[in-house]
Amino acid sequence: MNILVINAGSSSLKYQLFDMTDEKVLAKGRVERIGLDSSIVFQETGDGREISDVSEILDHTAAVRKMLALLTHPEHGVLADPGEIAAVGHRVVHGGESFKHSVLVTPEVKREIRSLFDLAPLHNPAHLAGINAVEEVLPGVPQAVVFDTAFHQTMPPTSYMYAIPTVLYRRHKIRRYGFHGTSHDYVSRRAAEFLGRPLEELKMITCHLGNGASCTAILGGKSYDTSMGMTPLEGLMMGTRSGDLDPAIVPYAMGKEDLTLYEISSMLNKHSGLLAISGISGDMREILEAMDRGHEGARLAYDMFVYRLRKYIGAYTAAMDGLDALVFTAGIGENSPRIRQSVCEGLTFFGIRLDPARNEAASDDPRRISADDSRVEVLVVPTNEELMIARDTHALVRGAVTADR
Ligand code: ADP
Repeated sequence: MNILVINAGSSSLKYQLFDMTDEKVLAKGRVERIGLDSSIVFQETGDGREISDVSEILDHTAAVRKMLALLTHPEHGVLADPGEIAAVGHRVVHGGESFKHSVLVTPEVKREIRSLFDLAPLHNPAHLAGINAVEEVLPGVPQAVVFDTAFHQTMPPTSYMYAIPTVLYRRHKIRRYGFHGTSHDYVSRRAAEFLGRPLEELKMITCHLGNGASCTAILGGKSYDTSMGMTPLEGLMMGTRSGDLDPAIVPYAMGKEDLTLYEISSMLNKHSGLLAISGISGDMREILEAMDRGHEGARLAYDMFVYRLRKYIGAYTAAMDGLDALVFTAGIGENSPRIRQSVCEGLTFFGIRLDPARNEAASDDPRRISADDSRVEVLVVPTNEELMIARDTHALVRGAVTADR
């Protein structure tokens, strides 16, 4: 059974086609600059064939048509007919309190996603556009939605409530939701498998460190607390996002600099984090290179990133009253031995000790990087959100229950 996974953004659409008999990726690609001049499309197949093209793609429906044209391309495609796609799974950023696990798309589900537009104005409208486009181009093909927030719906109120008047929660659902849930869920399961121990018995902290970054305290396989909040702005310092800050800064800076709501929001989301402190880039590789050239801003940005993450790891170890495994994933977490080393060298009090050679070794498989005498297992587990979405979609269309998620 072939499952197509789609991640629709406001001007982009990324996709991966899985053959679920062996969970192999048949093809993956992306359409960029939807609705802008010169849209770019790119696709590569599992057997290494690549195709790219520049054309005018005005909306998500046209993007879905283009994607299907590439997937069925006589030379560069992998399908003889779009009818070979059994189901489509979509990544949806915000599921609010309505969605505690993945579901099949129905008119009611679409209404719910629409009702969450206010909470995720940049993401949910684009996801819905993607769902509608598939409905139009592939009528009758079942679709599922997998939410970034769903995994964190197990958080207790002590974790998810803000200490502000509760009327704001009742009226406007202002609370912490958490994101990257599909990734935290996936890597925690893989980590337990790797360790050969039941997830239900483990206290784990998963650190998803990409352009966006979050870490999650996972107690017995369930999200107990996570660093992102009502939006993905809270928590760790990120590429261009501030992470935690004193909320009084917002009205103060708005008054002093005469900023609008849009401007302050854009400042905190797009012009803060590593980018603001280094003054050069929000990309960790560029920060590391600049640091090696002696750039002081890059050094401070790096040190702050590490320090803030270490504080969260300490806090979550206390929150769970212990820690069995610390897991690194995503672009920075999987690829930067230096960051992992810097983070862990300040955590010796918890019994965390890295093995330098294991930490330096690269691999696409889950691996242990802690020393044999480390009290806490430290692992690198490559994330795979697309596979998780494909698995959920597969389970839903076969009628298998996903109630454990
Ligand atoms: P996204 O959140 O967009 O999915 P990724 O998970 O791909 O992002 O992570 C992107 C981040 O990973 C960037 O900051 C990039 O510099 C960083 N990164 C990728 N490879 C390395 C590396 N070898 N060393 C350090 N950072 C890296």
